[in-house]
Amino acid sequence: MKVIILGAQGSGKGTQAKLLSESFKIPHISTGDILREEYDNKTELGLLANEYTKKGLLIPNELVNDIVKRRLERKDCKIGFILDGYPRNIEQANFLSKIIEIDKVIYLKVSEDIVFKRLAERMICSKCNQIYGINKKPKKDEVCDECGSKLVKRQDDKEEEQIRTRLRGYEEKTLPLLEFYKEKLIEIDGSGKPIEIFKEIMKKL
Ligand SMILES: [Zn+2]
Repeated sequence: MKVIILGAQGSGKGTQAKLLSESFKIPHISTGDILREEYDNKTELGLLANEYTKKGLLIPNELVNDIVKRRLERKDCKIGFILDGYPRNIEQANFLSKIIEIDKVIYLKVSEDIVFKRLAERMICSKCNQIYGINKKPKKDEVCDECGSKLVKRQDDKEEEQIRTRLRGYEEKTLPLLEFYKEKLIEIDGSGKPIEIFKEIMKKL
């Protein structure tokens, strides 16, 4: 099964991608991860992509397309995959449609309020800045797994404004994709508990 998962920050997209990957035994391919991998392996594409990120620029479509294509050509993707963080725009979606046939596109829809509630539950390590939240809980309450320091609540108004802007930006950019994939689209209410959302996805797949 070849699936794309769409959802804003705080939508629980990563958690659902992981659950799907485990139950269908197909790889969870996140653009963040593959970019990091390419960079760690010091590939030409990885180093080039890093130049853009370092300058705070968006990585050009062509470069992202090449990197994703290379990943999808690997053997483990033959039976399927969950694509997370790609495509981000119509140009990328057009490219993808030329190299592979996608079966379903899952869109996790969440309200701003839900995203804030989730983000408010986040804790951050006072020493190493590791972030904890619903997706990553510390093994011991309020103690950092990495360095053993105390975790503190992370909340400030400036961040809240940034999150709002990001969420709106995400919706604007995603709308054309929802239209592009409308025949394959499964829209899921992402406001419940992860396991309930997962059941809903499985029912609709
Ligand atoms: Zn720490």
